[in-house]
Parts: sequence; structure tokens; C-alpha cells
Amino acid sequence: MKKITLKVLALFFPIQLILIYWLKQHPDWVERYYSNHFFIFISQLQHYLTSWIPFSIGDVFYATIVIGIVYWLFKLLKNKFKNLATKSLEAIAFVSLLYFLFHLFWGLNYYRVPLHKSLGISTAYTKEELHEFACDLIQKTNALHSDLVSNDSLKVTYNYKQIDLQKLVFDAYKNSTNEDLKIPYRVENVKKSLFSLPLSYAGFSGYVNPFTNEAQYNYKIPKYKLPTTMAHEIGHQLGYSKENEANFIAAVITMEDENDFLRYSGLTFSLKYSLNDMYKKDPLLSEALIAELHSGVLENYKEVQEFWQTYSGPVELIMETVYGNYLKVNNQPQGIDSYNYVVALLVNYYQQKRTINH
Ligand SMILES: [Zn+2]
Repeated sequence: MKKITLKVLALFFPIQLILIYWLKQHPDWVERYYSNHFFIFISQLQHYLTSWIPFSIGDVFYATIVIGIVYWLFKLLKNKFKNLATKSLEAIAFVSLLYFLFHLFWGLNYYRVPLHKSLGISTAYTKEELHEFACDLIQKTNALHSDLVSNDSLKVTYNYKQIDLQKLVFDAYKNSTNEDLKIPYRVENVKKSLFSLPLSYAGFSGYVNPFTNEAQYNYKIPKYKLPTTMAHEIGHQLGYSKENEANFIAAVITMEDENDFLRYSGLTFSLKYSLNDMYKKDPLLSEALIAELHSGVLENYKEVQEFWQTYSGPVELIMETVYGNYLKVNNQPQGIDSYNYVVALLVNYYQQKRTINH
């Protein structure tokens, strides 16, 4: 690249940092002009460009970047750090360019108006309200579980191909009549991750590539977990960058769908967050609630737990730290803990806005 281009790009980096700082203070502006306009346009364009390709272009892009960096470092070492000034300029220019594209294509959604404000609900709730919500979920989960298995002690088996689950989840979004959620998504763009094995070790079920807006899922995870995972990633694709918000949308979309298996995934997903939260507030009550669940439901939870245990190890720990820091940098100060914060949205939404059907 020409030196002047490198200089302009490098100089642009601190300007971007100031711009991002300004945007953080103006969520209404981001919501209005970026999330509801520019992002909708650019993401639809990305979907038309990448959705017909059977594999993830974003994954190839990531792999290319990693190979490029390794090659660049190799050359730097081989030349014994010659031209260090130019090399440093190259590095800053590259980071600047990635930083710009990340925010332009998706990342600015981190600074939009928080979902509870858009929905007009509060985030405060009492232990009693959580208890009531969890009881409702347990009753619905047990009833649905009885419909899906012949014996209370059996786990629900998902006899679907992954591609069929993908279609069901996409249809759940397409057919959703929920007007509280903004669902402009009209192109199916969910793919298997080319990195599913390393993802399993890192403890990840899926991710959205912010540069191409493709959603990738880890095809190794138990099928029971796929509907909420895919729905979560589609939530990200819609512009809900934050983990808790994508989880909330995944829960609502799957719990409100007509398909029993999607609903079972969604109910148990919401229930897991609620019980974990209850455990922090009142461990005994949480255990009493768990005792009310059919043992087959616990088998489904166990299946997922065992899957992650097979792959657990030091990599997972490192990834949690790295990803936790990533979330903190991107306006989610609770880091990875914010995954539990979804309960605040769920309890208040179903108390103030809707009742869980079926
Ligand atoms: Zn996510």
C-alpha cells in the first residue's frame, strides 16, 4: 500500500476513537440514523451478497487475516526488524481499517438505545416477581415435555437435520407477529462454522461475523441447543449486538413459535437463566424449583453440560478472559456475566407486555 494511504489510515485511528466516544453519549442518534437506517440497508446488501454462498465467506476472511498476520510477523523477524517505522505504520493502518469496518458494518449497534428503553419496560424486579415468572416457565416446560416424550424421565430428542432446524428458526422470525421487536430480517444467512472444533474447545456456540453479517453456528453442539443458538445469532444479525439483548430476542422468538421443539428450547433456555439468577438470590428456593421439573428436562440440561465438559480445558479459560474483555471494551461492562442479565428483560417484558402463550 502507498505510504500516503497508510499515513491517512493511521491518522484516522485516533479520530475514530473520538467519534466512538461521542457516539457513546448519543444513543438516540445511533438508534435513529445507524441502527434503523444505515445498518438495515448495509446488512441487507451483505445478505444478498453472501447468503447464496454455501460456506462462510467471513470465516475465509478471518483465516486469510490470520495467515496474513503470521506472514507479516515472519517477514518482520526475518528482516531483523528493518524499517520498523514503516512496519509500525502498516500495523496501525491495518488496525484502523479493521476498526472502521467493524463499526461501519455492525459494531455501532453496541451504542444504540438499550432494548428495555425501546420496549418501554423497566429492568428492576423483585425476588417474588422472578419466582412467579420461573413457576410459570416450569409449568409450561413440564406440560410441553409431557407432550414430547412418553415418560417424564426421558430427555427430548430432536430428530431434525441441522438444516431443518435452521429453516424452522428462520421461519420463526419470518412469521413472528411480535411488533415489539424490530425484525427487518428477510434473507436467511446462517451457516455452519468452519471452525466448529476450535469453537467447541473455546466454549462458543456461534458468532456473527461483523464484516459480512453472516451467522455461524457450532455444528457440534447438541441439537436441542441449536434453535436458541441460531435465534441468538440471528438476533445479532438484526442489529442487537449485545449478548443479553440477543438472548432475550432468541428466547421470545422461540417461546412464541408454533413448533413444539423450538418452544421447548426457548422455555428451557429462559428457565435456565431464571433459575441461575434465583440461585444467586435464594439457593434453597432455586433448588425447590428445580425439584418441580420433570427429570427428563434435567437430562436435556445435562446433555449440554456434558458436551461442554468434553471440550473444557485451558483454552476455554483463555477465551473467556479474552471475550470478557472484548465485551467490556464494547459497552457491556458486566462482561461475560451479562449473559445472566437477560432475566431482567424477560421478567419485565412478560409482566408488563405479554403473557407466554400455549
Ligand atoms: Zn452472542
